[in-house]
Amino acid sequence: MDAIATISNTSSSLQTINWSAIAKELIAIVGDRYVVRTREELLAYECDGLTSYKQQPALVVLPSSTEEVAAVVKVCDRYKIAFVARGSGTGLSGGALPLPDSVLIVTSRMKKILEVDFENQRVVVQSGVINNWVTQAVSGAGFYYAPDPSSQIICSIGGNVAENSGGVHCLKYGVTTNHVLGAKIVLPDGSIKDIGGKIPESPCYDLTGIFVGSEGTLGIATEITLKILKSAESIQVLLADFTTVEAAGSTVSDVIGAGIIPAGMEIMDNMSINAVEDTVATNCYPRDAASILLIEIDGLEIEVTESAKRIEEICYQNGARNVTSAIDPEQRLRLWKGRKAAFAAMGRMSPDYYVQDGVIPRTKLTFVLKEIENLSKKYGYPVANVFHAGDGNLHPLILYNNAEAGALEIVEELGGEILKLCVRVGGSISGEHGIGADKKCYMSEMFSESDLETMRWVRDVFDPQGIANPTKILPTPRTCGEGAKPNHDAKYKLMDRF
Ligand SMILES: Cc1cc2nc3c(=O)[nH]c(=O)nc-3n(C[C@H](O)[C@H](O)[C@H](O)COP(=O)(O)OP(=O)(O)OC[C@H]3O[C@@H](n4cnc5c(N)ncnc54)[C@H](O)[C@@H]3O)c2cc1C
Repeated sequence: MDAIATISNTSSSLQTINWSAIAKELIAIVGDRYVVRTREELLAYECDGLTSYKQQPALVVLPSSTEEVAAVVKVCDRYKIAFVARGSGTGLSGGALPLPDSVLIVTSRMKKILEVDFENQRVVVQSGVINNWVTQAVSGAGFYYAPDPSSQIICSIGGNVAENSGGVHCLKYGVTTNHVLGAKIVLPDGSIKDIGGKIPESPCYDLTGIFVGSEGTLGIATEITLKILKSAESIQVLLADFTTVEAAGSTVSDVIGAGIIPAGMEIMDNMSINAVEDTVATNCYPRDAASILLIEIDGLEIEVTESAKRIEEICYQNGARNVTSAIDPEQRLRLWKGRKAAFAAMGRMSPDYYVQDGVIPRTKLTFVLKEIENLSKKYGYPVANVFHAGDGNLHPLILYNNAEAGALEIVEELGGEILKLCVRVGGSISGEHGIGADKKCYMSEMFSESDLETMRWVRDVFDPQGIANPTKILPTPRTCGEGAKPNHDAKYKLMDRF
């Protein structure tokens, strides 16, 4: 950490910042142990799950309460220095990427479940609580927390709120925003506010709706009130395998067209199937299948049994080779295990991968998957597909080797083409991973200048000094094209390798 640095990160005028003095003030708030300031220790915080972007912050602070977060933010406000919130750092769009002259505020010590209220079906948690701890805390009484990102064993509820995270069960039950009743937040001036409440509907402006998905740009959530649901009487998982990815896609449309809304429907293609079988060996995913479709149905036993029968018929009508089914919890977990490990399993296929996150109308699935295949051939990089098929949320995983000069730039360009394709067919540039640092240059593919201006107004109301995770989400004139220099000689060599 440089003791004194000249910064111009948020305001137009340059100012000299005495980082040693700031560190002292922060130590007085959280204690010496919880202000990270050596270069070696800061290394652990230089990126999130999007590892191609790296930047050390000036300081990392680990507060343990709302009051400590507020006091830390007040220091940032007073010195006009930027702060970036971080939960578990699993974000895939560079949302928690620090800025060079910023304070990174990490919530990983804020792990208390503050209140469990079964009668009213809600819990209050500190924002650093890990997603699946919520279900663990309430499952004994027959409840669960529905949004279940594949990273749920590590990602924080604060991160989920900031990204409006989705997951396998969000097809039927909705994404994070549908499960957050209210929150205590620290605004960028350090004041503490309550938004929403503890009841499902509160009158007036939906401030909780604005805050969810704001990626740390409107303040820091410190305590969050979540809805919990009663566990279903019966759950069944079906696994169908197909000789084409298109057949799995048509099955998804036909199931929904038949009036059945499963809890989740996920597709994995051949590359992903083999990657997970090599890694976690479920021994359930046929290695020669072009695709598998995992379908979970839940509800009353009679309803689940009838829906499962009908879905099985639809799978066979679409050319499924086999349909396996599991009711027993252990068997169900086995069928899901490979899907949950799919991103991590890509590490066996390739030294690096770049995951994209676009949404398309379900009916365009076949067309878009074919186009992605064409783009993969054109750019010379393999693309594996694992996705929340029921809600049209694609996750193309582009495999590459970052050690190859120019590879990352080409892969980013390919990822951008996929996002533009999603927008062209009436979809979106993000389903659940957010915009962060990675996708802000595609915001204008989807939003008009006047839409973006409205978003800037909202941001300015919460953060007039522009210190809360600045440079994320909203594009600036310099955002696009920086460093994107495709090296087309490198790409064909890589295609041979995978
Ligand atoms: C293997 C893998 C699988 C994944 N699967 C899914 C999936 O199925 N669905 C899905 O939606 N995502 C998925 N993700 C992405 C990621 O896990 C989610 O975006 C998650 O919500 C991030 O939580 P986090 O605690 O790691 O947040 P971080 O990465 O630490 O931060 C994410 C963003 O939230 C902000 N933030 C963090 N905490 C707060 C807070 N308390 N208040 C305000 N802002 C805050 C940060 O500034 C940043 O902008 C996956 C990631 C990985 C690595």
